[in-house]
Amino acid sequence: MKISFPIMGNSYVAFKQLIEDIGHEPVLAPMPSSRTMTLGTMYSPEFACIPFKILMGTYLEAIEKGAELIITSGGHGPCRAGYYGILHQKIIRDLGYSTKIMVFDSFTRTMGDFISKIHWLLTKGKTSWWQFYKAFKLGWEKLVALDEIEILSHHVRPLEINKGETTKVYHQCLEIMDQARTRERIREAKEACFQLLNNIPQDKSRRPLKIGIVGEIYVLIEPFANLDIQATLGEMGVFTERGTHLSNWTKENTKMTHHEEEVIKAARPYLRQMIGGHGINSVGETVLFSRRGFDGVIQLAPFSCIPEIVAKGILPQVSRDTGIPVLTVFLDEQTGKAGLQTRLEAFVDLLKQRQEKRLGGAVS
Ligand code: SF4
Repeated sequence: MKISFPIMGNSYVAFKQLIEDIGHEPVLAPMPSSRTMTLGTMYSPEFACIPFKILMGTYLEAIEKGAELIITSGGHGPCRAGYYGILHQKIIRDLGYSTKIMVFDSFTRTMGDFISKIHWLLTKGKTSWWQFYKAFKLGWEKLVALDEIEILSHHVRPLEINKGETTKVYHQCLEIMDQARTRERIREAKEACFQLLNNIPQDKSRRPLKIGIVGEIYVLIEPFANLDIQATLGEMGVFTERGTHLSNWTKENTKMTHHEEEVIKAARPYLRQMIGGHGINSVGETVLFSRRGFDGVIQLAPFSCIPEIVAKGILPQVSRDTGIPVLTVFLDEQTGKAGLQTRLEAFVDLLKQRQEKRLGGAVS
């Protein structure tokens, strides 16, 4: 069966392999582009949030490439993510396509449904549970390695001597990881990528500003949705870290880690209940970034996203209490790179002035 899935950062490299390893043909939609956005905007409700629109466009492009089934994740709590799958399916059907959407909700909340969907996929792909277990482990290892490589790239970029080199090497790393199919090869590929990134000529005497990035998961992870904010900041000489990567989000959802508890605890003085999406994470992660000595925080909020609007209303108080400056960037299909760049430059200038004051002018 020809199966596609949403494009979300570098995770496509791992999902592609997983689908193939369970006996299906992966259909990789093109990387999100202005065409994806145009298609998505054209066929989505006007006030849908930007992740919905980009996914809509991605699904239509995957259908053009022959996808018979699209596998995606669901959502819960007071936000629209839980309805995404149903609405996307309805639009696809109304456009006359027979492609089905299969939604996987949180494993811990819908265990029975989760297992029966996997069982169906395995039966269709003539794959055993044991083969699935091995494929899943391999895909997971690849996903974690991809996140580690990406994190390293954000640490190296602000120190690079030749502007743009890290981004070039990072894309080369994605290809290297894509070629690695076995456990051994994945480990070797990861080591090779670490070496390539560490070998980039760097000026280690620089003391880059540190900015934490928080916000809604899709716009946080997918560079097309956030206009490649981490690479842009990196090339401006800023070290960035973000609250969520797909591998740590998966670990939280399968109760493999308990970082979320720390985030919720940090948010508690400001927000005592879950508000859907990643609203509570935006508040809690901002507190945690301030405790870790970061110079500032940027909140990425899809236009009309209620959880992030609520968080935005709370963040000025967090900023006053902790002293960490926070910039909120609302993203929709109208947001342009040039406008964002100007706002980032102004924010970085402000943070530099504060850093200079603190360090008595000794900033490179
Ligand atoms: S969290 Fe925000 S952007 Fe994401 S689905 Fe919910 S409302 Fe939309």
